[in-house]
Amino acid sequence: MPTDRILEVSGLWAGYGATPILQGVSMSVSRGEIVGVIGRNGVGKSTLMRCLIGLLQTWRGTISFMDQDVTQLEADARARAGFGYIPQGRDVFPQMSVEENLQVGELIGGPEGKKLPELVYEYFPRLRERRRQIAGTMSGGEQQQLAIGRALIGNPALMILDEPSEGIQPSIVQHICEALKSFRAELGTTIVFVEQNLDTILEIAQRCYIMEKGKITRSLAGEEV
Ligand code: ATP
Ligand code: MG
Repeated sequence: MPTDRILEVSGLWAGYGATPILQGVSMSVSRGEIVGVIGRNGVGKSTLMRCLIGLLQTWRGTISFMDQDVTQLEADARARAGFGYIPQGRDVFPQMSVEENLQVGELIGGPEGKKLPELVYEYFPRLRERRRQIAGTMSGGEQQQLAIGRALIGNPALMILDEPSEGIQPSIVQHICEALKSFRAELGTTIVFVEQNLDTILEIAQRCYIMEKGKITRSLAGEEV
């Protein structure tokens, strides 16, 4: 495997009951790359993201992350392996303040995580203004910025976002895109994100995978995206 590959998925099968949802998914991501995954409702995008971080047991195939097969790791080892994950929908601790939510992210990050609160506040000034506000009382767009900030603060090697723009107005989506690009530029964060809107993918990704019925059927790279 080339050394710049951070993630390599090969022939992945998975499902919830007897029915396979993922039917031989293969994809690869290089270090520092931003890669979009697009596809219709129900094709298995969220299922794939769950498999990547080990929330869902895979049936067949391999997921190599930083040269380790993560399907073989115990749950706690996987949690430390360097993934940041934002599931579909808002993912904040609703009873905690913005600051406290970010502190949880810091705890998960390694020593390098320590310098990141300022960076997160820099890219999401709204969070600084509202740092004492209880997360559950914030708007959907603000909560999404907090969820992303909390995952970024741990300085993950690979950040996985499942439809970060869902239900968010275009100007905030734009802002989130800028923040992700800045993190990549500053810290070299690799990003895989699911997105329904091709324009949003065009905004930030170097490459885009198209998913249909449990398979990745096409990859668009460079100028094609
Ligand atoms: P969307 O664009 O709507 O988010 P998606 O591509 O992310 O769709 P998935 O959430 O991966 O799609 O779902 C793929 C299929 O797996 C769907 O048919 C869905 O009903 C099924 N599925 C998802 N989660 C579960 C679950 N926990 N138990 C059983 N079936 C599930
Ligand atoms: Mg989904």
